[in-house]
Amino acid sequence: MTDTLVFDNTLADGETVHEMMAHKGGITYNDFNILPGLINFSVNDVDLTTKITKDIEIKCPLVSSPMDTVTESSMATVMALFGGVGIIHGNFPTAELQAAEVLKVKRFKQGYVMQPYCLKPDSTVADMIEIKKRYGYTGAPVTETGFVGSKLLGMVTARDFDFITMNSNSTADVTMETPIAQIMVPVEKLTLGNAADAPEVSIKTLKKCRLGKLAIVNKKGDLCALLCRSDLLKTRDYPLASHDSKNQLLVGAAVNTRESSKKNVELLVAAGVDIIVIDSSNGTSTYQVEMLRWIKATYPKIQVIAGNVVTRQQAKLLIDAGADALRVGMGSGSICITQEIMAVGRAQGTAVYDVSRYAKQFGIPVIADGGIRDVGYITKAVSLGASVAMMGGLLAGTTEAPGDYIWGPNGVRVKKYRGMGSLDAMEAHASSQDRYFTADSDQIKVAQGVTATMKDRGSCHKFIPYLIRGIQHGLQDIGAKSIAELRQNVDDGLIRFERRSTNAQLEGGVHSLHSFEKRLY
Ligand code: 5GP
Repeated sequence: MTDTLVFDNTLADGETVHEMMAHKGGITYNDFNILPGLINFSVNDVDLTTKITKDIEIKCPLVSSPMDTVTESSMATVMALFGGVGIIHGNFPTAELQAAEVLKVKRFKQGYVMQPYCLKPDSTVADMIEIKKRYGYTGAPVTETGFVGSKLLGMVTARDFDFITMNSNSTADVTMETPIAQIMVPVEKLTLGNAADAPEVSIKTLKKCRLGKLAIVNKKGDLCALLCRSDLLKTRDYPLASHDSKNQLLVGAAVNTRESSKKNVELLVAAGVDIIVIDSSNGTSTYQVEMLRWIKATYPKIQVIAGNVVTRQQAKLLIDAGADALRVGMGSGSICITQEIMAVGRAQGTAVYDVSRYAKQFGIPVIADGGIRDVGYITKAVSLGASVAMMGGLLAGTTEAPGDYIWGPNGVRVKKYRGMGSLDAMEAHASSQDRYFTADSDQIKVAQGVTATMKDRGSCHKFIPYLIRGIQHGLQDIGAKSIAELRQNVDDGLIRFERRSTNAQLEGGVHSLHSFEKRLY
């Protein structure tokens, strides 16, 4: 009978995590392997439920970094749909703009596009064709200003311009230069949805009238959103989605430790934010402790992730000051140069293990932040005690990351990814400087990050399910049916670890091939 199979623990190879960490050498994810366990359950049964903060449970251990090339509302929405959480970055020109990103996540309804690309009446057919080429949308609302939130004047659909001639000297009715106002269907002739209606009502209208797109307007006639038939048809259920008590998606946002950030916190809370991250490269400063105490005293229901920390002494300070979770990592990120330039930081594996072990006694979850190069690194971070993994680089090349794709060398499609402590980011916004304790007036800035590009990874709608399934496979191989079981069995020494030599690391990667292609999902 297969279900009576057990491992003989007297033969256990490798060492316990505590033995491995006792060497005090500073271990990274790459320095060890987890030894295989007994598989007596299906990969589908692996439960990835975990905690991101003391009071918030989520269904998968994935969080996106508060970086201006990683997380705005699109990323935060998709993260929450798949059971993780996105942390909106704090590098916006105004506090209002950051809060607006939180609102977009909170207002997300399936099938609704809250920020559709709009045209102005004097936009041309060429502008519509550009939208189609770049984003694949076959129609667009026309508003007074060319943005959502202003008066809807009409809609253009593919049928209004698909017979046009590309020749600008043509005498045909519609050319590339024809103003959109001439070919759009004017608002009087459109069937409209009402912003005050429940989504089901608008969906019914769209179906009944056989529309491709239904513009949703408020009482004043301003465009609020677009309901798209194609999106509705694609709509999947998201059984793992991270929801608040009102069934809205969970979302976090980052603030810095300056006095002025109190305004951000106020607006973020008003917008419905669930988690505030106090974003600092070294979390143990008087500024952070004061900010943490102020947020907890002013908004006791808001969960606060404090950090970053890498030692137990640092962890104690922030737990004592009221942190609901700790963000762990210093200098381990893909774009970080802190350890090189400041000579300060810690190997990420050791930092995650030490801080998690300490924080566990107080029920405080740890977010392993930075250095997650691939799915196996998430499994390793969790096995060392982290509750979730925070990713920047891994998500930066996806469709949902902010910024446009550009063509990099050798015809590779890439997106910009920059460290929040890069000169580029610090020059763009003071908030980035604050993360690295650089004053506005400093003539000499010391960068702690670089500016880079990331290869196009496609949409998170494909990539996140791949990550989730990858972690499930990892846990299955380890013989743990859930994250809870993984952590318990690691702690009890039943799950075994083995450090790997440099040669073992080489052996564990792809080797001895003439050439290869690494397609993962
Ligand atoms: P990644 O996932 O790309 O390895 O690392 C992302 C993490 O690196 C972020 O969540 C943040 O903690 C950290 N980070 C972001 N920008 C910088 C930077 O410019 N310098 C340093 N030292 N760390 C950064």
